[in-house]
This record gives sequence, C-alpha cells and structure tokens, in this order.
Amino acid sequence: MNTPFIIEQTDIQLLNTTAHIKYELSFEHASRHCISIKMIITQNRDEITIIKSPVWIPGSYKVRDMNAHQHDVRIHDMQGRPLTWKWMTKSAIEIHNPEKSDIIVSYEYYANDRGVRTSHVNRNHAFIMPVACLMYVENRMEEIHHVSIQKNEKWNTITTALSPIHEQMSDNTVLYGALNYHILIDSPIEIGNHVCMTFEVAGALHELAVITQESIDMEWLKGEIKRAVEVEYAFWGDLPYDRYVFFLLIGEGLRGGLEHLRCNVSAVEPSAFLDKTSAQGMMALLVHEFFHTWNVKRIRPIELGPFNYQEENYTHMLWLAEGFTSYYDDLLSYRCGFYSKEEYLSVLAQSHLGKLARVPGRFSMSLKDSSFLAWTKLYSMSPDQHNQFPSYYTKGGIVALLLDLLIITQSNGKSKLDHALRTMWKSYKQDGTKGFTEDEIIQCIEEECGVSIRSVFTQWLNGTDELPYQEIFSRIGLEWKEEPIAIKQEWYGDFRPFHPKKQSIFFGCAVNEEQGKVIVKEVEKNSPADRGGIGIDDEIIAVNGKRISNRNMLLQSLQSNGLTQDAEIIANCDGKIYTTSITLQPAIQYSLNVRDSITHDQEQLLEFWLHG
Ligand SMILES: [Zn+2]
Repeated sequence: MNTPFIIEQTDIQLLNTTAHIKYELSFEHASRHCISIKMIITQNRDEITIIKSPVWIPGSYKVRDMNAHQHDVRIHDMQGRPLTWKWMTKSAIEIHNPEKSDIIVSYEYYANDRGVRTSHVNRNHAFIMPVACLMYVENRMEEIHHVSIQKNEKWNTITTALSPIHEQMSDNTVLYGALNYHILIDSPIEIGNHVCMTFEVAGALHELAVITQESIDMEWLKGEIKRAVEVEYAFWGDLPYDRYVFFLLIGEGLRGGLEHLRCNVSAVEPSAFLDKTSAQGMMALLVHEFFHTWNVKRIRPIELGPFNYQEENYTHMLWLAEGFTSYYDDLLSYRCGFYSKEEYLSVLAQSHLGKLARVPGRFSMSLKDSSFLAWTKLYSMSPDQHNQFPSYYTKGGIVALLLDLLIITQSNGKSKLDHALRTMWKSYKQDGTKGFTEDEIIQCIEEECGVSIRSVFTQWLNGTDELPYQEIFSRIGLEWKEEPIAIKQEWYGDFRPFHPKKQSIFFGCAVNEEQGKVIVKEVEKNSPADRGGIGIDDEIIAVNGKRISNRNMLLQSLQSNGLTQDAEIIANCDGKIYTTSITLQPAIQYSLNVRDSITHDQEQLLEFWLHG
C-alpha cells in the first residue's frame, strides 16, 4: 500500500503526541565535534529490523554518504542486552531481534563541517542537520518521530522548525517532533547562544536565528527579511506554514543556501554587512531560499518527493526547481526594493546572461541533461565544468526570463509567468502528494496565460543552440549588447590627456596564487589561453620575459602587452617548461538597457513585467 507523502506540519499537530521512534541527542563530546545519539525504537513487530542513513540531502543533488562520520555503533534491547546486528550496505544495518523487544541504537556522529547542509558541533554550539545523522527504520518513516535534546547550562537557546511536544519546556531536556521522518530530516536544529528575533506576517510567526561571532545590525536585517517575506507573500497569495525559521550563518568562507519546508539555512561572508553589492547578493540569496518554500518544496518535479534516500533521484526538471527560482530571486529582490531598475538590468546582464556567455558547455549539453546529470556534473565542481555543460541555475534562470517575456508579449500584457506559478500553487493545494511533470507545467502555462509556448520552450529545454536574446528583448523595448569594453580616455585636470588607455584584454584563464606561484585553475574552451595550449594546473612563470609571481602581475603584463602583438608566455606543465605565443582578444562587456526608441506600448509591457 502506498502511503501518502505528507510534508505539511503545524506546531499544534505535535502537541502532547507520543512517538515510537525517538532520538536522544547529547553533547558530552562537543569539544571533539561529536554528537552522541541514542535512537529508541519501540513497538517492533518483526524479528528483523532494518535501519538506514540517507546517502543524499534533498535539495542538494549529490550522493554524499553523510554516515561516513557515524561511529561507535552499539545496539541493545532496553535491558542493555546486546542484539545481533550487521551492516547490510554502507548505509544500512540489519538488527536481529527474535523477541521483538524495544531497541536502542546508540552511536556518535563526528560533526565538524560548517556549512548549510552539514552538521557542526564544538564547545560553543551545535548545528544539526538531521538528514546527515539521524537514521530511519525501514517501512516506518511515516510515523511520528520525536527528538529530545539534552540542554547544556552554557547553551540556552534552541531554534528549529521541529514542533515542541510540550507547551512548557523542561529545564534540562526539551522534546520536539515531526509528523514523519521526511519532515524530521528537513528540519535543522541550532543549539547555543545565537541571536534570535521574531516578526509576524499574515498571522504567521517568523524566527530569525543568526549564528555568528560577528556583531551585526539585527534590526536592519530583520526589516529586510520581513520585506522579502511580505513581497513573496503578495506574489503567492498565502503562506504555507504557521511558523518559519530563517537560519543565517555568517563567517569567512561561508556561502550558499538550502531550502526546507518550514525553514531555510543561508550562509554569507561578513562582507554582506559591509558593502552594498554584497548585501544585495545576501538578500537575493534569502529571497531565493524563501521562494523555494513554494517552488521545489511544494511545487516540485514529479521525481522529487517522495524520495528514495538510498540512491540518486533523477529528474530532468531542475530548470523549474532551481532555474525559475534563480530568475525570481533577482526579480523579486527588485520588487522588494533591494535593486534599482538599472541595477536589476545590470544584474541580469552580468550575473545571468553574461555568466552564461562565458560557458562554452552550453553548446554541448541541454538544460534538461544538465539537470538529469546534476549528480555527477554540477555538484562535482570540476574545474573544466564550464566547457562541459551549462548550469541549470544559470541557463534555467535565463530560460525563465525569456519565457516570461514571451508570455507577456504574446498575451499583450495580460499574463505573465507569475500567474502560471500561482496556478501551480493552487493545484498543489488541491493535491500536494505528488509533483508535476514537464507536460503538466507547460499545459498549466499555456492554459493560464492563454499563450502557445510549447514548441519554442521545449526547444530551449532540449536544445543547445544560442538562446534568442535579442529577438525576445526587442519585443519589450530592451537592447542586449555583447561588445568590446569601450576605451575611456582619462584626463589630468581639465585638458591634459592621461596617456591613451589600451583596450581591456581577454585571456580565458582563471588563476590562483599558491606559494608564490601562479597556477591555472580554469581554461575556457577556444579562448586565447586554450588556443595557446595552456592547461589547468599549469604554472605561468613569465610573460614577455618578465617573471610573474602573482595574479595582478599576470593581469598587468597581459594588459600592457595589448592586442597588437602576441604575448610570449613561459609556463610549466607537470615539471616541464614550455613557451607559447598567445593572441589576446578584446574583453567583452554585456549590457541590457531600455532602448531610447522604446514605444509607449513596449514601456507598458516593461512595467507590467517588472512590477508585481
Ligand atoms: Zn535554490
């Protein structure tokens, strides 16, 4: 019998419930980054019980084998008598329990990876990703699960989207729960001394938990996040939760985000609070993760939920899950007031269209295949990945943009993609137990918006041809340009020219500095560097006879070489020195602007697109 996939939970549903699968978490070994976990399984009906750990994290499409950090597994009955058990696979344990007694599985979990999808525990705090460290009982995932947390006198705050079981928390131990395992592992927990604030939108409580050593302006941050919630609430029409948590990790080297049903975890560098562009990036990230509350956690590709936690869950539709969300994160940031109109068009030109323009792999792999192979492609972070395939975030976002403009122009300003998404949301609310097929999405767009997009849209999803930017943008009075960066003359005082500036050059390499050496990290296919035979991991030693010891020296030497002659480069490949001549190219700039010749009708379409 197929049990329905339940993913909605309100706090009141868990009050005073009991559970027959319960986890006790304690932190006696926090200083060596270990969580002590005791899993208590009662009401066993079989002589053999199988318990498993997920091998991947929904929302992050890569097999990560998180239970590699699990150790010191011991399995007993309630009287402390050891039970016979064995590993069946890398992530599954078979327990022999002839008396069908209650089972206690205890283990340690080493949690020393700070990020949005990993657990991190030390003497100061614990951030727990249940999907990484809590095992499930086969065939019993749909039961209520409880988690009890042993409080530590130094850690007085706990934040989680799990629901409290008792109205009054005890001083020593607190008990949380989830209606099933799917909701449990989708609900991270922070325990420590983090800063918390709350606000309400549309009667729903929103908690903001900031985990950082930095001192930040919480009031300002709360105001910006509240603004984002209000704009997304207006976009979708309602909020699909009673309570929602924003977890924000701030620290050097931290980035990214992960969406959950009633919370998200986002991570930024401290610079997000120091300069405007970084703050805009942070707000777009928060808008993105919050948008996933609807798009992907609920409106989702058919293959993404219920999940198979033991293997890859393939889908061709991450263009919907991540592409559409990437498109709306910046558009809704504009509607929030986090960008000016010019800034938004510039972000589209640089971070979306210009970014894809530097990905030769867009001519090799379709958007749908890039989605399907996410498990070994996007998350593998190969230094050669831009030459191999387009990201379904970047190309998916651009396809969403072009689709939106196509709908707007075809419907003559009566419909847009927003309307189709709202219809999908209504459809989810009627039956949320399963996701959408590609055909259902296209049908929904065509019916809701009264347009005919199937043929062109499926070509964008399946094809590898360049997307028709100019054709679509010109319909709405926008102009897309890819052109060499213009040379601007600078002046001393009012009338003395500073010496003529050289054309900005394009080399086609990303480099790192390692111990005084300049090492090639990426090479763009068919770029000057590629044609000159420079490869990933090569060391660039000299340009035109001048020793190069850092990235700036390389850029300056290439820039001063200019375009009129080839640059002579000495490099080292795997211990063998070689010399090559590089024909440099002008650097290209990308821009998207409102045409001077925009018509009144186009102006109206443009405003209709930009505003909610
Ligand atoms: Zn996302």
